[in-house]
Amino acid sequence: MRVFYSPNHTIHSPQTFISRGQLKNNPEQPKRAEILEASARAAGHNLIESQDHGTKPIEAIHDKGYINFLKNSWSLWQNLPDSSNEVIPNIHPGRNMSLLPKSLIGLAGYYQADTACPIGKGTYDGAILSANVAVSGALALIDDAKNSKKNTFAYSLCRPPGHHAFSDQAGGFCFFNNTAIAGQCFIENGAKKIAILDIDVHHGNGTQGIFYNRSDVLTVSLHGDPSDYYPFFSGYSDEAGLAMGKGYNINLPLEKNTADQSYLDTLNFAIDEIITFKPEILIIALGLDISESDPLAFMSITTDGFYRIGQAIGRIKLPTLMIQEGGYISDILGDNLIAILGGFEETHHN
Ligand SMILES: [Zn+2]
Repeated sequence: MRVFYSPNHTIHSPQTFISRGQLKNNPEQPKRAEILEASARAAGHNLIESQDHGTKPIEAIHDKGYINFLKNSWSLWQNLPDSSNEVIPNIHPGRNMSLLPKSLIGLAGYYQADTACPIGKGTYDGAILSANVAVSGALALIDDAKNSKKNTFAYSLCRPPGHHAFSDQAGGFCFFNNTAIAGQCFIENGAKKIAILDIDVHHGNGTQGIFYNRSDVLTVSLHGDPSDYYPFFSGYSDEAGLAMGKGYNINLPLEKNTADQSYLDTLNFAIDEIITFKPEILIIALGLDISESDPLAFMSITTDGFYRIGQAIGRIKLPTLMIQEGGYISDILGDNLIAILGGFEETHHN
């Protein structure tokens, strides 16, 4: 498996987030990607350093004002008297407030959905790098198709993750929506229909939001039931898309402690929906935080379960780009990655 990565992701290293009212260490640490990279190397995968493809693919998905905010807010924040070294909002636009404010503190609340996406000195550059890891993977598959290589695949080891980022909003450790950016790359290079299957334990709310009105991108998400889990405000089964996009968004919330077999049953339902849609490209938003050992635990997927999930996805036999989303540090984080990649390669080849 080709594994696209950037060794420079460490430039983004968030320090804090608030959980249940407590200030905690941010779990979206550089060490995550180091573990995944080392595991991929040890398993013999082909590691390829990502290229810089500029900001154009990012601008195809994200709002200009938001991009500028990510770029400039940290240095402006340092000029505020008595400020922290990370940009963290302390007010959000409530249901009765929708104005785009002028003040930096107001803008932080407008562009950052929660306290889990602090903006530090290297956040903008790190988010750009991460998007480029996704774009490098997408362009590799696009090149394969031009060279008549069919049904190829790659894995983009993106960090920070992206699926909670909307066009104009960061959230849940995410800044640029790498999966959506890669998806749009395929569309702009001639794909008429693509499918995104999000298996992160959290609902892919940003990806859903970005494509909610579109019929050329089927978004399917399996995730922990949001009635008692992040992102709380979306991820319910009645969210099916709007206007042209109606019928092209599928949410499959799963109960706490969902184990391998019942996860696979729901996954097979999702796969049937994808096959019916007949996409040219499949993108997997690969969250490894469904693991039984994940520190943000909600589900109970074993390492063998990851292997079987990989096998099920491989059997679809579409050109496939896997994009790293969540998945936090545990003793088996790397094993789970190797299991899903191995399962995928086994069935996709045969
Ligand atoms: Zn997640």
